[in-house]
Amino acid sequence: LPEYAFIGRSNVGKSSLINMLTGRKSLAKTSGKPGKTQLINHFLINKNWHLVDLPGYGYARVSKSSKKTFQKFITQYFSFREQLVTAFVLVDIRHKPQPIDLEFMQWLGENGIPFSIIFTKADKLKPSAITRHVEDYRNILLEFWEAMPNYFITSSSKDIGKEELLGYIDNLNANMELS
Ligand code: GDP
Repeated sequence: LPEYAFIGRSNVGKSSLINMLTGRKSLAKTSGKPGKTQLINHFLINKNWHLVDLPGYGYARVSKSSKKTFQKFITQYFSFREQLVTAFVLVDIRHKPQPIDLEFMQWLGENGIPFSIIFTKADKLKPSAITRHVEDYRNILLEFWEAMPNYFITSSSKDIGKEELLGYIDNLNANMELS
């Protein structure tokens, strides 16, 4: 089955987003405590694709060795990614583009892994600020890439972006079945 990977900094709102997408409150554990998702979890959605929940990166208070372990983990996942269609990189809409996220996107690009961006916690900003922050990303990414990747603006607490995201994935799946 086709696979879609979800990844981002610790505390970006990944568990909440996964719960929104799956419509189940208890599936992915959310917490205010960063660094909670430790292992790779797979969720079967609509019986026709897998959502892959990758561990959060960039948690400041972890040791060098656990950072290494994480990197190995992620690198390994992406090296054996036969089923992977797209990675979704989650970023908190409230923050300016962060080096760690940009570096990760760069790494995906260099390794030929398609990705889209999911902006999270959109309920925390006014629409004008959302537009501004997306523009900041666009400006930086266009220094490296020819086009801005696909992106989605979401809020798990306000149930925003769910249909758009699921529709996007369904479309990709349908196109793959055709080809
Ligand atoms: P994870 O570490 O990336 O899995 O992040 P979580 O899903 O556990 O969320 C981290 C924190 O952000 C929690 O306190 C959530 O309640 C909060 N959060 C997550 N998504 C949203 C959102 O869409 N809006 C708001 N306001 N808070 C959110």
